[in-house]
Amino acid sequence: MSEPQDRLGEYGSMRAFDETPEPPAGPAVVGEHGAVARDGRRRFVVQRHRATRTHFDVRLEHDGVLLSWAVPKGPSLDPRARRLAVRTEDHPFAYRWFEGVIASGYGKGDVIVWDDGWWEPAPGIVVDDALDEGKLTFTLHGAKVRGGFVLIRTGDDQWLLNKRADDQAVSRWSIEDPPRSLLTLRTNDEVVAGEPPRWEPPTDDELAALDELSGGGVWEIGGRTVALTNLDKQLLPPRPPDAPAVTKRDLVRHYTTMAPVLAPALAARPVNLTRYPDGPDGESFWQKAVPAHAPEWLRRWPDPGARRGRTREYLVIDGAPALAWVANAAAVEIHPWTSTAMTPDEPSYALVDIDPGTDTSWDDTVLLARQFRAALDHLGLVAGAKVTGKRGIQVWIPVRRGLTFGDTRRFVERLSRAVGASVPELVSWRWSTDEREGRARLDYTQNAANRTLVAPYSVRPAAGGPVSVPIEWDELDDPDLRPDRWTIATLPARLTTLGDPFRALWPIPAQDLPAL
Ligand code: MN
Repeated sequence: MSEPQDRLGEYGSMRAFDETPEPPAGPAVVGEHGAVARDGRRRFVVQRHRATRTHFDVRLEHDGVLLSWAVPKGPSLDPRARRLAVRTEDHPFAYRWFEGVIASGYGKGDVIVWDDGWWEPAPGIVVDDALDEGKLTFTLHGAKVRGGFVLIRTGDDQWLLNKRADDQAVSRWSIEDPPRSLLTLRTNDEVVAGEPPRWEPPTDDELAALDELSGGGVWEIGGRTVALTNLDKQLLPPRPPDAPAVTKRDLVRHYTTMAPVLAPALAARPVNLTRYPDGPDGESFWQKAVPAHAPEWLRRWPDPGARRGRTREYLVIDGAPALAWVANAAAVEIHPWTSTAMTPDEPSYALVDIDPGTDTSWDDTVLLARQFRAALDHLGLVAGAKVTGKRGIQVWIPVRRGLTFGDTRRFVERLSRAVGASVPELVSWRWSTDEREGRARLDYTQNAANRTLVAPYSVRPAAGGPVSVPIEWDELDDPDLRPDRWTIATLPARLTTLGDPFRALWPIPAQDLPAL
């Protein structure tokens, strides 16, 4: 058995990582159960790769890397199908959720994550011995491919992949047309076109079924069943006082119906949740790990960079059913990472956080936001602003691939100091709240790994369920703008008339951050 970094030498030598969007050849930490994930299950992935020839890459986690075979016709559930499988170089564990366009060099083409799940060798099989002997018998637990398979070596790198005849076998089975990503529901063409991930909201029938659940029960949504509890429990007080209070049912409806606009901000990103089971004044929980009792279909991301013994599995929301589970957990707020699970050390955007102090008026906050608008406009950068749903305004600046958190943090610090210098009476650079003398803070420190800002369209724990809402830049000149202007109840009408202003940020433009 060799160490993952040795096994990845070939992978690394074949690629130029300043050119390809594929993840670098970093090793993953294998936990005490022999797998990267805390549950001890080895993950597998099948990617559809349109390169010189279209093929499906079947990758099985083993010893912190992904054993890989290129299968031109893809795996089949039909036991009579004998599929050529060409063994290719081991890939880093981080490759598991890689989806994107390889514009040049080795593997030039485009990749979607077609299936994903976990696998286990057949009882008594020692994987390294089986690879040496040229016969690996195993079981796949995926969303599309399931059951027993065998890989048999027929030549140097040539193997055959066969479905075993078992209760998961399907005669005359064929791959869906067109094949779609399991993670983002996109086709290869849609990935090339830069389409954002597609998440479907609940249907009218599904929403009617939600309304009919009295108190709790099982909700069927998007092909999943989600157990919902205490649906009529008041989570947030009303606003205005004579309106109905915000119940957990309202939160479930909000998050699931927002699935299409949440998708670009949440897809493939680990999230932290803030749960308020007893309302805004009760105890709240900052939750990073997925609880053990959570349903198996929830997508979990084992952080391959986590220190040994500290492996932490993050929730990755992948559609409306997962959003229903999140809302049922009274997770009022959703905080996605700035980076994706594919490249956790690469931020996708630089974040400006205008954090008002106790003496900062709303007009002051808007003034600061307008200063950022002018500066970003001057620099020619695409960016989006959103009100936080509390008191502040944040600015999201998408950045090209390959930048580090150091790059985004330095840029936002310099930009913020330039803005702050123009209105020094409004801004404090002291981090401690008592020393800020009531002034605003321009917080650049969230531009770091595993630091987060609240998601667009996340609810905040206050009366009426105010929402963090993306705005058009010229709305900063609207005298009626307020940081908590829109709530769960009023947001749908705004989206119907105005659409999602953050649509302009996706796909993330390949913009660099200029030197300041
Ligand atoms: Mn390939």
